[in-house]
Amino acid sequence: YPTERIRNFSIIAHIDHGKSTLADRLLELTGTIKRGKGQPQYLDKLQVERERGITVKAQTATMFHPHVLSSNHGTNQNDTPSFLLNLIDTPGHVDFSYEVSRSLAACQGALLVVDAAQGVQAQTVANFYLAFESNLTIIPVINKIDQPTADPDRVKAQLKSLFDLDPKDALLTSAKTGQGLEYPHPCCDRRIPSPPGCCDMPSECSCFKPAKHMVFSGLYPADGSDFDALNHAIERLTCNDASVSVTKETSTALGIESETRVISTIPTVPYIFEYSDGRYVGPVITLCSERRGEQLEYSFIDRQMFEITIQAAIGSKVIARETLSAMRKNVLAKCYGGDVSRKKKLLEKQKEGKKRMKRVGSVDIPQEAFHELLKVS
Ligand code: GDP
Ligand code: MG
Repeated sequence: YPTERIRNFSIIAHIDHGKSTLADRLLELTGTIKRGKGQPQYLDKLQVERERGITVKAQTATMFHPHVLSSNHGTNQNDTPSFLLNLIDTPGHVDFSYEVSRSLAACQGALLVVDAAQGVQAQTVANFYLAFESNLTIIPVINKIDQPTADPDRVKAQLKSLFDLDPKDALLTSAKTGQGLEYPHPCCDRRIPSPPGCCDMPSECSCFKPAKHMVFSGLYPADGSDFDALNHAIERLTCNDASVSVTKETSTALGIESETRVISTIPTVPYIFEYSDGRYVGPVITLCSERRGEQLEYSFIDRQMFEITIQAAIGSKVIARETLSAMRKNVLAKCYGGDVSRKKKLLEKQKEGKKRMKRVGSVDIPQEAFHELLKVS
């Protein structure tokens, strides 16, 4: 497709100002979806988006629109190649601003939607600056003019004073009724430049910086047989979200069963630090174990009704071992002065029970135990 007939644009707005509804109308205007046929909020595909009525993931929709540029006046519209419009819908919520800036990096223009009654709100300002810093042509859209409390003149004044946008450029629309959104499409606009061809693109244009990862968390399948399913789910997540990356690691400590299906470590923000008092806990522990030092105290696994052995091993060589004694229930408490054989019988029964528990019992290891364990490694 000739680049001069391509327009890449975004719709940006404060939450609930009508961005997704406007996107639906534009898709209808170009015949991409049939009026009233598509699901409302066509671009909000994720379940969470439909349930909560918010956009989380940026979505792209491609539209074709026959339109004559003003310089081509008099040309038969049917002979004129149509515009290819790429609409990139962005989330308005501050939590997803990474998605917004990622979308804007692919655009040359933005429709800045403002609710005619509410006027400019916090995310209108934040999104305006994201678009402005990305050098986009900004076309203001004053939406919801059908509302009785709509005050487009007040919004025009805000656009002028806050963003220095010319009120004459503002479109007055109702995404709900379609008013103000008749042909031609607002983005077949000379003011929005066509995208640079790959050869014209200066190398620094490639604004777009990969996300800097800030929070890290480990995920392990609680049951080893769920590994493939977990792996598949994580792969799908990374395909979907460029801000997530994955590094595989293994932890032999987590061969232990648990009730939760996925064990997640506490999300951590990595940092490097030095002890100013010269204590180096990690190396000290290593040094001790290298010198056959034994870690004698182990306090974070709750005591069980049966004996638990904790071993530290290098390969098949056990380098440390500790036995956590069983919590003992006094089964004899009830039989004051009972005969010896009865007491013996009760103790035998208890011993049997403990044996069975050890074999079939699931050790209830709290999530915190994993967190503590993994802190060390
Ligand atoms: P978004 O959060 O910016 O994507 O906003 P939505 O498109 O989800 O719209 C938020 C609410 O405003 C929905 O209930 C829409 O039906 C409603 N809405 C959107 N545009 C208009 C409009 O032009 N007029 C009126 N009255 N309601 C609108
Ligand atoms: Mg939306």
